[in-house]
Formats: sequence, structure tokens, C-alpha cells
Amino acid sequence: MSFFKNIKLHTWILIGLLLGAVFGIIFKVDQDMLLIETIKASNETIKSEISDWDSLKVESYSIADSISILKKLFDKNSQLQVIKFFKNLSKTNKKNLTLTVFKGENVTTFENIKSVNKKQTLATVIKPIGTVFIRLLSFLAIPLVIASLIVGAASLESIKKIGTIGGKTLLLYIFTTIIAITIGLFLSNIIQPGKMLNKEAKDRLISASREDTPEIAMDAIEIDIINFFVDIVPKNPISAMSNGEMLQIVFFAVIFGVTLSLIDKSKSAPVINFFSGVSETFIKMVEVIMKLAPFGVFALISVTIADFGFEIITTLIWYILTVLLGLLLQTVLIYSIFVKFLGRRSPIEFFKGIKEAQVIAFSTSSSAATLPVTMRCVENNLNIPKKISGFVLPLGATINMDGTALYQGVATVFIAQVFGFNLGIAEQLTIVITAVLASIGTAPVPGVGIIMLVMILKSVNLPPEGIALILGVDRILDMCRTITNISGDSAVAVAIAGTEKSVEK
Ligand code: ASP
Repeated sequence: MSFFKNIKLHTWILIGLLLGAVFGIIFKVDQDMLLIETIKASNETIKSEISDWDSLKVESYSIADSISILKKLFDKNSQLQVIKFFKNLSKTNKKNLTLTVFKGENVTTFENIKSVNKKQTLATVIKPIGTVFIRLLSFLAIPLVIASLIVGAASLESIKKIGTIGGKTLLLYIFTTIIAITIGLFLSNIIQPGKMLNKEAKDRLISASREDTPEIAMDAIEIDIINFFVDIVPKNPISAMSNGEMLQIVFFAVIFGVTLSLIDKSKSAPVINFFSGVSETFIKMVEVIMKLAPFGVFALISVTIADFGFEIITTLIWYILTVLLGLLLQTVLIYSIFVKFLGRRSPIEFFKGIKEAQVIAFSTSSSAATLPVTMRCVENNLNIPKKISGFVLPLGATINMDGTALYQGVATVFIAQVFGFNLGIAEQLTIVITAVLASIGTAPVPGVGIIMLVMILKSVNLPPEGIALILGVDRILDMCRTITNISGDSAVAVAIAGTEKSVEK
């Protein structure tokens, strides 16, 4: 028993991650199988499974004219498209359709359809465990940020000090993001992942992208920089908190904390003590919740792996490798330089200190959900003063997304190459500027990076449908770029602490 006791939490989390991956592979969701629910006249629901079909035909049948109108024909690799097609239909529309399945000589017809879905496996039914884990982490984030920022700001003596730290933080965040996007553009221009696709794969991807353009690609997404700054000031701090508006919360907590330092000590001391107690409690709570991390990580990874279409990896292998190489360079090389020269700390110590946060970032794909763990790692393992980490990290989780920016750079050049567009220097500069803005405007939750990519594609006149080309592997890259995102925030916190030696713990 004592053998198990000696295993560190971090190792347990890694074991959870590996076992989750294995479990996901064993109980993989069948990508050729559909679960069709139909309603019988007696109102009873019948479930049927179909697999390995050759093609599927959806028709609507008009009883009045006794004619059938073909709605859509699907080939055998279209599980997701079929599910999406039925999801977008209303209840009555679904009922009025006939679904015919062709499998060799066999033809099966379904009527009165209630739903068409993937078949759940043991690996996907445990999804709620992962969801509860993310929720536990997410509910901690806001009270933890508020309490630690108020205490931090109250002890930072003056608004001038906050101003200098704030200014430096912003500069470093923008700087690291520019480096990240430049690495992304550089690598994708050298490796040319879009040109490495063979003709057949390229045609298949392009025609699939025409078929399967996500609705998000059609939305006009714009960033209005003036409004962005106006929006940082909350009208009502309580609604900012309930809506999870991190920048507004940071703004409120800083103003509140600084003002506390301006009033009489006898009045401010109990308030500061109170928030200090709240902050300690939440940090302890992170510690307690992290004990569940091996299970949460297990569930999150097993669902992702079980549900992932691995076939697409081979087609997009060069694109994936380019993104991964970029993320590796940014995370290991660039952040080590920042940590070493600005933070005056050993990079090895740095990476050891934040490894727990990195695994959680990878499993949750969300910098926001990871924030409490990042704060705990940076404060406890790297001994960065709370006054700095409490300010720099929440801000970073919201506005600093180096991994996302880097990936957007690679994705844009990749899409341009596949569609046969040439991006000149002016266009690449436009990508840098838009990606920096997009990274600031990207919410720190799973999958938003690809939505903001639409804006970047539009800025250089590339077809926004292009995102459909890379959608299939986005989840896995999202997990990886979130590691870079939170590592970047932590590296900047260490760098700021290194240049602010006068700030004590
Ligand atoms: N999932 C990323 C994050 O939360 C954002 C993204 O790139 O989609 O940091």
C-alpha cells in the first residue's frame, strides 16, 4: 500500500491519461455505425443499428401526390454528415422522411424517424465524469481570481505599480504572440504542408469542405478594438461575475484592491483579511479537486479518443506535424529564453513546476478551466508572488493565446496552399496583425480558435469554408495548443516576477 502512497499526484494524472487513451481505443465509437430510433404506431420507440453500409438515401414522400423527392444521398464514409443532416431537421420533418440503407444486396427502409446518432460505447458514456471535473475547476476560477487579485492589488502600494506591471504584462503578451505567429508562418512556408497533399486527398478534402461547410464559417466575425477596450469596464461587477467576463472581473478587482489601500488601515485590514481567507480556501479547494484529476483526465481523454476519426490524421499528417513542431519550438525554446533571461530561473525547474497544469490543459482544452491549476502551480511550485500571478495569469488566460495564434498562422497558409492561393508579404503581415487581435479576442474555451480563424481567412480573402479542411483534427490540435497557451501565461508571470524583484511574496 505504501508503494501506491509514494506515487505523486502528477504521476497518477499521467497514468489516468494513458489508461484513458487505451480505454478509448478499446471502446472506440464505430465510425461506420448509426443508431436509428424510429417511432411505431403504438408510440413505442425502436432502436436499430446499421453498420458497414454502402450508401444511404434520404427521401421525403408526399402522400397526396404519391411521389418521393430525393433529399440527399450519402456514401459510406459519411457518418457525421448523416447525423448532422438529421440534427438540423425539425421533429416533423424527421418523421416525414424515409431513410433507405443499401448494403450489398440488402435494402432496409426506415420511416417515422426520431433520431439518428452514433452508438455510444463504454468510453463515451463516462463523459459526465469529465464534464463534472471541468465544471469543478471552472467554478473555482472566478472567485479565486477575484479574491487573490483584491489581496494582491491592495498590497501593491500604488496604482502606478499596477500600471507598470500591467503595461509590462501586456507588452510581453503581445510580443510572445507575435513570435508564435511568426514561427507558425515561417514553418508553414518552409514545410509547405498544403503542397504535400496528394492530388486525390486534396480533391477529396476540397469537395468535402464544399459539402460540409460549418455554419460558423458563414458568420461575420469582427473585432472592434475600441469596443474591446470600452468593454473591459463593467457596467455592473455582479453581472460581469455571473457572465464570467474575465477582463471585466480583473478590472473590478484591481480597482477595488487599490482603493482598499487608500482607505484607513483599521477599515481595510478586515476586508483584506477576509479576501485573503477566501483566496486561501479556494487554493485549498483546487488542491482537493486535483485529487480527482486522474479520474477526470481518464474520462476526458477516453471520450476524445473513442470519438476521434483517426483516418483523417494520415491525410493531414504534414499539417499536424507543422503545428506540433511550431508549438514545441514556442513552448520549449521561446519560453525557456523568457524564463531564463527575464525571469532568471531555470527552465527545467519551470517546466517541472507547471507540468500538472499542462496535463490539465491538454485534457480539458480550456485555459479558463485550467486557470486555477495554473495559479496553484505558479504560486506554490515556482514561488511567484500572488500579487503578480493573481494579476498576470487571469489576464493571460483571457488575452494571451500563443498556441492558438501559431496554429492559426499554419492553418491559414495551409488552406491557402490547398486552394492554390499565393500569400505575399503584405498578406502574411495582415495575418500577424489579425492573429494577434484574434488571440486577444479568443475566449479561453475549447474550439474557439478555429472560429476566430474564419476572421483571419477573411482578412486575406481566403474562402472561410477552408476551415472544413482541418476541422477533423481540430480537437487534437486544440488540446496541444492549450498547453502552449497556459505555458505562455506562466512564462510571462515568471518573467514579470524576475523584473519586479521589489515585489515580495
Ligand atoms: N482551447 C484554447 C484555450 O482555451 C483556445 C483555442 O485555441 O481554441 O486556450
